[in-house]
Amino acid sequence: AAEEGFDIEDVEGAIEAAGHGPLPVLAVVGRPNVGKSTLVNRIIGRREAVVEDKPGVTRDRVTYEAEWAGRRFKVVDTGGWEQDVMGIDASVAAQAEFAIEAADAVVFVVDAKVGATDTDEAVVRLLRKAGKPVVLCANKVDGPSGEADASYLWSLGLGEPHPVSALHGRGTGDMLDAVLEALPEAPAQTFGTGLGGPRRIALIGRPNVGKSSLLNKVAGEERVVVNELAGTTRDPVDELIELGGVTWKFVDTAGIRKRVHLQQGADYYASLRTAAAVEKAEVAVILIDAAESISVQDQRIVTMAVESGRAMVIAYNKWDTLDEERRYYLEREIETEFGQVAWAPRVNVSARTGRHMEKLVPAIESALAGWETRVPTGRLNAFLGELVSAHPHPIRGGKQPRILFGTQAGTKPPRFVLFASGFIEAGYRRFVERRLREEFGFEGTPIHISVRVRE
Ligand code: GDP
Ligand code: GDP
Repeated sequence: AAEEGFDIEDVEGAIEAAGHGPLPVLAVVGRPNVGKSTLVNRIIGRREAVVEDKPGVTRDRVTYEAEWAGRRFKVVDTGGWEQDVMGIDASVAAQAEFAIEAADAVVFVVDAKVGATDTDEAVVRLLRKAGKPVVLCANKVDGPSGEADASYLWSLGLGEPHPVSALHGRGTGDMLDAVLEALPEAPAQTFGTGLGGPRRIALIGRPNVGKSSLLNKVAGEERVVVNELAGTTRDPVDELIELGGVTWKFVDTAGIRKRVHLQQGADYYASLRTAAAVEKAEVAVILIDAAESISVQDQRIVTMAVESGRAMVIAYNKWDTLDEERRYYLEREIETEFGQVAWAPRVNVSARTGRHMEKLVPAIESALAGWETRVPTGRLNAFLGELVSAHPHPIRGGKQPRILFGTQAGTKPPRFVLFASGFIEAGYRRFVERRLREEFGFEGTPIHISVRVRE
């Protein structure tokens, strides 16, 4: 590194920054209008606009990456739901439940100006039951005069209320310090290896693609509801299912079975549920209704899985209904709509007839293998050296930026840091990613590549 002009500390810092596996998850919960979305905006540093609500417009994005004091984590925002969906207590509880289930720690937001309401008390009961670390945020304390309001919230029995103005930023730093204390360095769930128990699968897809049919088909009579097993009562919504001689944990299957009949807010509820399931899982099996055109909603779900950095398999269901014409058009749609995820293993299944069910497990296993692949530094650099001399970066401003060396900083998903002598253009980065995939596989996994440029 030194002879290439990089400071060794920079190199180590870059590798460490990129080297994390799945990030711990913070859920922000509370009643409508207490300021959850405003707080999430504050936490993520307004890099993405969360509070964009026009009434009736449902938000599909619910998880965001954040960083505080050098630590990175994910934030799940539950603020996107209209309050009159199904009776306030039920709706707040329902959305909080998914978020809490997937979280490693929770920020519970209360409007200090209003004080604790019955709905707040209902959420407190949920939080007690879940037993996750909680940071109590007394929001809308815009100035010193509001601090007395905050202190009333000791009565909730959740410890110290942190007076915060999500709107103006007052107190948010102290609250985030408390969040970091509550949040484990890594997700409480173990990812990968046999040590963490069964591998976890999120079966996701828009309504009516056949999730519950598929689950029934693969589960057969072997189904074991996890909450019937001793010591696993914390995950009442997950099911152990034996497939291909191996036991898998399908996460959030209760969400698949229990149809929630909602009009308004149903999309958001579904997004939240999907995001929570993906966060809990190692691999997402995305179900697509092959009989219908690939929709924007299908694409959002795929994007969600990619952004979450999980392994991924795409299963095209209802194959029994396709005629030749539909098959032809489906292939065209897959090329245009899912070109970016051509690396995901694909299976064409029918939950009705059982067609190709036996192909599901090999696809899942190969995606998990890709997700966990680690390329030794020597091999990576031999590959990069050849690549760079055979296909140099285009010359820009009389100079030729070069990738000098690289390393794989992490797995699950694979993360690479490349060190370069100048700015590497997006097109060349994509080219490098494509070649990495050709060389090393990475089937079924997103890969992250960050580039450091020598000062
Ligand atoms: P959510 O429904 O819990 O996500 O709440 P929002 O973040 O949408 O906020 C609801 C309303 O409260 C908005 O009008 C915000 O501007 C306002 N609000 C949020 N945080 C604060 C705060 O710290 N102080 C004041 N005065 N208003 C706030
Ligand atoms: P979910 O909302 O994703 O859980 O979808 P369901 O499992 O409830 O299925 C929606 C509808 O599609 C039901 O009427 C199913 O019988 C039907 N369905 C599911 N899988 C298949 C399949 O492979 N072939 C056919 N023909 N119909 C299917």
